[in-house]
Amino acid sequence: MDQIRKLAGVLSILLVSLGFLAAEPPSDVDDINRGEAPERKIVVFQPGTGEASQRSVIEGAGGRFGKPLRLINAATARFPNETAAQAAASAAGVLRVESDFIANAALAPGSVAQQGGQGNKGGGVSQPVQETSWGVSRVKAPEAWSVTQGAGVNVCVLDTGVDLTHADLAENVKSGYNAINPSRTAKDDNGHGTHVAGIIAAVNNTIGVVGVGPKISVIPVKVLGASGSGWISDIIEGLEWCGVNGGKVANMSLGSSSDSQSLHDAITALYNAGLVLVAAAGNSGPCANCVSYPARYSEVIAVSASDSSDQFASYSSQGPEVDLIAPGSNVLSTWKGGGYATASGTSMATPHVSAVAALKRAQNPSLGPADVASALKSGADALPGLISDQQGSGLVNAQKTTALP
Ligand code: CA
Repeated sequence: MDQIRKLAGVLSILLVSLGFLAAEPPSDVDDINRGEAPERKIVVFQPGTGEASQRSVIEGAGGRFGKPLRLINAATARFPNETAAQAAASAAGVLRVESDFIANAALAPGSVAQQGGQGNKGGGVSQPVQETSWGVSRVKAPEAWSVTQGAGVNVCVLDTGVDLTHADLAENVKSGYNAINPSRTAKDDNGHGTHVAGIIAAVNNTIGVVGVGPKISVIPVKVLGASGSGWISDIIEGLEWCGVNGGKVANMSLGSSSDSQSLHDAITALYNAGLVLVAAAGNSGPCANCVSYPARYSEVIAVSASDSSDQFASYSSQGPEVDLIAPGSNVLSTWKGGGYATASGTSMATPHVSAVAALKRAQNPSLGPADVASALKSGADALPGLISDQQGSGLVNAQKTTALP
């Protein structure tokens, strides 16, 4: 019996060193949709508590250690029940135990229309002649390209991953990170992340579409599963990874109606370290004072959605936290499997703003996050007929924003 236990110990060390047990299984995210979610928690420790001590506190309370969240002195854990989680919360060195919960891609339901039946079949997709989406035109991106196209600036796309071999994207996409399962690539198994990436940085060539900043580098950070949902803890880890790996802007076309102190703490730390954070206001409309998290945090640039007539999109959330509005309805962009699709949501509006933020950082690298936000707002165009809860400072404008000092 002891020998078996020893052998199991050796085996698990071996697997951890190979990266197999270091992450939650990839099916974990989708468990939530089947009502099988285990009691996942974020255990926050006093600063300076080492990983070994964290592990021993969690296991001592009957829990299973998940992964460290170093930026916020925390770790993910699963507990068999609330009593065990409470035991961990009252252990020495523990500040608090929070629920780990699910955030969702901010895509309007039913809005995806793949072009010409392309999308899921992989290679052999016939490529359409390049067109510029109404959104890229409306934010006056091409008018900024004589100043900058975003070369040298990395935008992290915290999403479902990105199609890493897409003919109209690959040139501008780095390998990135999969926070759900670090032993896997950041390949997109949904389509949403690829759509967001194309709005930011589709290549200016002869095929497909063109991004707001066609020389921006996209870093895919996979935090949402194939269903478009993901754990707050994976978003925290993905943001930390982005900050450590050269991200200058973080695009979060995702959200939740619930607040997470851990997520907010991570965002505050990264903002103070110089990262520009942009997030979707959410698609709860029509509604009032309904901006989702993390867009709701003051460190994050919150983006609502407009349509091609400059009207406020009916699905878009609104509230005093909205900073800017951007094109969100029926936006054409890249899709997984080498294809293209139109889609709607504050998910689509957000990358228009992230990309203009990246253009601003390329044009003036000395600006910090508050300066970039201020330039985006100063350069925006107030839309007639919309209240400030709907549009913040107005429609983002790449030409005017990059013409500012
Ligand atoms: Ca193109």
